[in-house]
Amino acid sequence: MISTQIQTAAYLFAGILFILSLGGLSSQESAKRGVYYGIVGMFIAIVSTVLGKDVNGHIYIVIAIAIASVIGVLVARKVQMTAMPQLVAILHSFVGLAAVLVGFGSYLDPHTLSLPDTERTIHLVEVFIGVFIGAITFTGSIVAWGKLDGKIRSKPLLYPGRHIVNITLVIISIVLGVLFTMAPGTDGMIYLYIMTAIALFIGVMLVMAIGGADMPVVVSMLNSYSGWAAAAAGFMLGNDLLIITGALVGSSGAILSIIMCEAMNRSFLSVIFGGFGDAPVATSGDIEGEVTSTTHEEVAEMLKEAENIMIVPGYGMAVAKAQYPIHDLVDILQKEGKKVTFGIHPVAGRLPGHMNVLLAEANVSYDIVLEMDEVNEFMDDVDVVMVIGANDIVNPGALTDASSPIYGMPVIEVWRAHKVIVMKRSMATGYAGVQNPLFYKDNTDMLYGDAKDSVNKILADIIK
Ligand code: NDP
Repeated sequence: MISTQIQTAAYLFAGILFILSLGGLSSQESAKRGVYYGIVGMFIAIVSTVLGKDVNGHIYIVIAIAIASVIGVLVARKVQMTAMPQLVAILHSFVGLAAVLVGFGSYLDPHTLSLPDTERTIHLVEVFIGVFIGAITFTGSIVAWGKLDGKIRSKPLLYPGRHIVNITLVIISIVLGVLFTMAPGTDGMIYLYIMTAIALFIGVMLVMAIGGADMPVVVSMLNSYSGWAAAAAGFMLGNDLLIITGALVGSSGAILSIIMCEAMNRSFLSVIFGGFGDAPVATSGDIEGEVTSTTHEEVAEMLKEAENIMIVPGYGMAVAKAQYPIHDLVDILQKEGKKVTFGIHPVAGRLPGHMNVLLAEANVSYDIVLEMDEVNEFMDDVDVVMVIGANDIVNPGALTDASSPIYGMPVIEVWRAHKVIVMKRSMATGYAGVQNPLFYKDNTDMLYGDAKDSVNKILADIIK
């Protein structure tokens, strides 16, 4: 058992570690350190909470933590890097569910019943809002998981008047909230039940309405919602650390959502209200030009002659785990005095920072990994661009085809380079499900096959 003062000091220390952790995660060089700060902070937070004054039944808590830790380790070890976004989405849903359960528990807690009137009203407002946000986060994250995992189709589910329906449901929830706070004892339970059902429905409908190309923003938005749900749980439980942590996650998730919105040229407000999947869903119509393909021998020759080479990786690099041979290829090209850079699109892959993590994993030097805006500036000077398992992020239609669901999204303008090699297995579309006119351009050649196999073959040809 520890005193309240020691617990407060421990919470403060853990809070500082969480802030340092977020600071560390902002750059690749310090990301590892950031993760360690987070682990130590969370350890201190859990221990000081479990040893807190009013906590009983330690044995059950320890058993629960042990079981959950084993599950956590097994899942983290087993999950493929490509399935990471789904895992993140489902973890967000747990935070939402926890906030809902804490809300119900807190409402039924005899302590709540004995609070003086004003304090009780404030507490009931916390409970109501906490359950509302938690329930939306719970079902929204499950639908996001389904969409990212391909279990639910990524096409947006739009029906006429859905904004009116959503606003009406929010107004009904507010009325229920007023009735809930006025109800004596636990009589307000019925209002809490009805509101929870409404919020669960809103969560489903908000994310169902969002199209495949806009999913990156949804993932970061649900991250933010899960933070606010945790903060709300902190208010309900009177736990300062949970409030701090929730607010950190909520606000950093919101900032990330704004960055993602800017990267995709979407309005942040329309994202918050779930109305941003309305972009017309259409194919890009007839695309002019012919698709030409090449071989790994030809690509190896091209690379030998090129001076300025760029690699643009996408989701397919993650699927193929091609980052390791890519690192070796870059090494050899650099040793031959060639300039090699990576162009990273903010929504490449299936997670914010997905490509950066994979390249860091393969020890690719950070200083040659550049962002979209930087590489677009000198694209005209690039001799060869290798697009490795990317599709939507290099689609010129995003700039020219107003009927495309990704219209308006800035892309890496690889077609401005002298030569483009697109490495993928087929002519299949990417996550947004749109055709890519890049493949039909005169200066583009397709190199079909698994990205890792192709890079390995090119590598073998170069060192021959
Ligand atoms: P895309 O999904 O557009 O394209 C990936 C391409 O990789 C596919 O066309 C596929 O073609 C190819 N591919 C798959 N497996 C392999 C393999 N083993 N070897 C070689 N190629 C392979 O990915 P991008 O990274 O270009 O774009 C990301 C998309 O995901 C965007 O639409 C973005 O909005 C969305 N998204 C991003 C999130 C994020 O946070 N970053 C989150 C959710 C969605 P083929 O089958 O022919 O090989």
